[in-house]
Amino acid sequence: MTVTSVTVIGLGPMGQAMAGAYLDKGYDVTVWNRTPDKADGLVARGARRAETVAAALGANELAVLSLTDYDAVYAVLEQAPDALAGRTLVNLTSDTPVRAREAAEWVAARGAVQITGGVQVPPPGIGTPEAMTYYSGPKDAVEAHRAALEVLTGIDHLGEDPGLAALFYQIGMDMFWTGLVGYLHGQAVARANGISAAEFLPRAVKTMDFRYFLEFYAPRIDAGDDRGDVDNLGMAVASVEHVLHTAQASGVDGSLPAAVLDLFRRGVAAGHGRESLTSLLKVLHP
Ligand code: NDP
Repeated sequence: MTVTSVTVIGLGPMGQAMAGAYLDKGYDVTVWNRTPDKADGLVARGARRAETVAAALGANELAVLSLTDYDAVYAVLEQAPDALAGRTLVNLTSDTPVRAREAAEWVAARGAVQITGGVQVPPPGIGTPEAMTYYSGPKDAVEAHRAALEVLTGIDHLGEDPGLAALFYQIGMDMFWTGLVGYLHGQAVARANGISAAEFLPRAVKTMDFRYFLEFYAPRIDAGDDRGDVDNLGMAVASVEHVLHTAQASGVDGSLPAAVLDLFRRGVAAGHGRESLTSLLKVLHP
């Protein structure tokens, strides 16, 4: 039987988007949020407002949790532990793999099933065809709720381990944050030199399209092949020195390229100067 009613707990920008997507698809939506007035707009669109966590969990077998972190998850669920029995919790709250596994055990001990999720799009991406979420946890629970999950995004089910979705999500965020801060640092140098973000935009899009590099390096990383036939760490040190000096000469904080330079120099000091950039994996994870 296809579930067409759902509870959404947590109405930050993400929970708002999710509850809205369910309303758009005609679901019977019950919402709860610590700060109640954040539900007002959704209630105006037809959602039911639960006055308590127990009422929210009691309303539907399926509950989507979209909270800041797992401290918030416990702060909410501990208000109504007896209401958990028989529920499926789609926990789309970000945190570490360890905490996701602990929470799965915690809810299982109270008779509920957790599907862990890591959403890979910002709120405006919810309900769009290209959106994707990592899921892990019991496959039968994911399949039972496939239609409801697909209202939000596509499904990338990684396996039964409830920590897997959090792990894949954090690997992605590791790349996302460092990459995006790299973009901002470049923009600081651009701004210091009178170049607008708009003017640089087409160049930034090209520079930050790492697809070629990812596809080139991935098989070499898996093969442990750090040949310096295309790039080498010694060259990379010289390049980052130029970046650092350009930033400093522009009056821009150089701590980001300085940290990159430190890492590269440690690679050279460890004897990898004539090897590829991928040899840094031996420094990062000896
Ligand atoms: P917010 O942090 O803006 O909102 C989270 C919700 O958590 C709010 O409803 C807030 O309630 C609630 N909350 C926080 N602490 C507590 C607490 N102690 N007790 C009860 N409720 C609490 O997050 P977002 O909506 O932006 O994101 C939700 C999750 O989705 C996060 O884990 C985030 O990492 C993840 N995510 C977000 C993306 C984004 O672009 N926003 C993208 C991908 C994933 P209140 O309104 O009362 O403060």
